[in-house]
Amino acid sequence: MILMLGPPGAGKSVQGGLLAAELGYVSISTGVLLRARADEELQAMMLRGELIGDDIVQKLVQEEILAHLSRGDLILDGFPRTVAQAEWLVKWVKEVGGCIECLLHITVEPELCLKRLVSRGRQDDKSEVISARYKEYKDVAAPIIETMVGADVPILTVDGSQSIDRVHKLVMAQIGQRKTC
Ligand code: AMP
Repeated sequence: MILMLGPPGAGKSVQGGLLAAELGYVSISTGVLLRARADEELQAMMLRGELIGDDIVQKLVQEEILAHLSRGDLILDGFPRTVAQAEWLVKWVKEVGGCIECLLHITVEPELCLKRLVSRGRQDDKSEVISARYKEYKDVAAPIIETMVGADVPILTVDGSQSIDRVHKLVMAQIGQRKTC
């Protein structure tokens, strides 16, 4: 299992998709799964750029991982997003005999994130919501990385500010350093 971390607009979904195609993995995005839910309260929270509760997201991720496990390895895009989620994932993956191969951290400066997201134009891509989502990432990135380092998970950091192709090449240049499980 490969985990993706990065600010909104870093290109996690695009790079996760390209990487999944290249490695023959299945990419799972918590954002996509949550947006597909017909729950008004949840949709409103997402539009405000607020995080959904750990319990709900963990249950969703657990179901998805178990459903896909037989199809091969996974890329998790958008999870973990809190230290509690990171700690839960490390513990649960161990219990089910899985393995976290690496945390792929795609870094992009906030100005570029804002520029990319405004042109993407998703419903939660308004400048004040983007700022809230960037701040959420800024606050949790270091402690999530620390949790993964503590669990012996390699951290691969890639500069996501260049073109999609170029970033994909940077990802591929690093991905060989993930743990073999
Ligand atoms: P994304 O598509 O990854 O940008 O996620 C969009 C929105 O979904 C976020 O702003 C959160 O409201 C929600 N979300 C996605 N992943 C998580 C998660 N792991 N924990 C809590 N909320 C999440």
